Amino acid sequence: MPNKFLKLKNYITKKMSMSHIYQPLMLIELLKGNGKASAKNISKSFLSYDETQIDYYKKITTLMPFKYLSKHLYEIKKSKDNYFFDGFDLTEDQKVELINVCSKKLEDYIRKRGIKKIFGHRTLASGIISGSIRYKVLLRAKNRCESCGISNKEKALEVDHIIPRTKGGKDELNNFQALCYTCNSQKSNKDDTHFKKILESYNHRKKGCIFCNISKSKIIKSNELSVVIKDNYPVTKDHCLIIPKRHCVEYFDLYQPEINAISQLINEMKTELQKKDKTIKGFNIGNNSGEVSGQTIFHCHIHLIPRRKNDTDNPRGGIRGVIINKQSY
Ligand code: AMP
Ligand code: ZN
Repeated sequence: MPNKFLKLKNYITKKMSMSHIYQPLMLIELLKGNGKASAKNISKSFLSYDETQIDYYKKITTLMPFKYLSKHLYEIKKSKDNYFFDGFDLTEDQKVELINVCSKKLEDYIRKRGIKKIFGHRTLASGIISGSIRYKVLLRAKNRCESCGISNKEKALEVDHIIPRTKGGKDELNNFQALCYTCNSQKSNKDDTHFKKILESYNHRKKGCIFCNISKSKIIKSNELSVVIKDNYPVTKDHCLIIPKRHCVEYFDLYQPEINAISQLINEMKTELQKKDKTIKGFNIGNNSGEVSGQTIFHCHIHLIPRRKNDTDNPRGGIRGVIINKQSY
């Protein structure tokens, strides 16, 4: 039986296969602590290597404290990645006194709110998202932020709930979005009332609007934010309408998550229709936005119109037919 030292050295140098930086860091902490280390200290040592966290807080610095401090205290300035007091001429005593009043404010705030609550939006428990969901969301977002479009090569993407679980949001693909950490931190750090208003607006329904009050029996398919029904006066057999649940008048009023949800239903319907009806060889996807374009029901909806060979004499130009004599060119 080799002694402890040789066993450890042999493991570290010959056997330890690494898929992350964690193992050597944990061992270093255990060794430094003479065989003991708290989970907190081990985690802190991981954190000291995690540039993504540093990047996140760099962004937060600009978006939050710098924004407010520079607004109220003109002497706080920024130059590239550095912040400074313009004309810093405080005495040592004044400096210590100001640090002390800052510390006091900090302690009072933490005591009042609780440290767990302050960072609640970043805790694991606020939504563990399974690896397979994360993968599907990133795949659907084609590795770009679904808000600003930046590639995840430039900024790490985070997957999060559009409607939080605590507000009744489900763990369904269409209730997730991939956001870069800048867009995500802006979302999480918006003041609560503003964010709450956006969330509540998803529940907006208009009295008397037929697409706000579709009977359950007419809904063929749905997801978190949209539904599909058959058009009552179909242009071709199985002409469907994909409709956001929230009452909004035009396509241009849709929120990005609703566009994603609608797009998902368009794709699912397309696949299902073609599976059951082999005569469907194409589709027109269309939206009338505004009365002059032909809109008759003023709750946004997307037409999905299956097309079959010879369903019209001359299909050439398709959607161009909105101006009848201009369809073909
Ligand atoms: P739009 O001109 O784009 O506003 O189209 C409205 C569409 O809704 C038309 O294609 C109608 O056939 C269809 N439609 C009208 N009333 C209903 C209804 N109660 N249920 C389902 N579809 C309807
Ligand atoms: Zn409506």
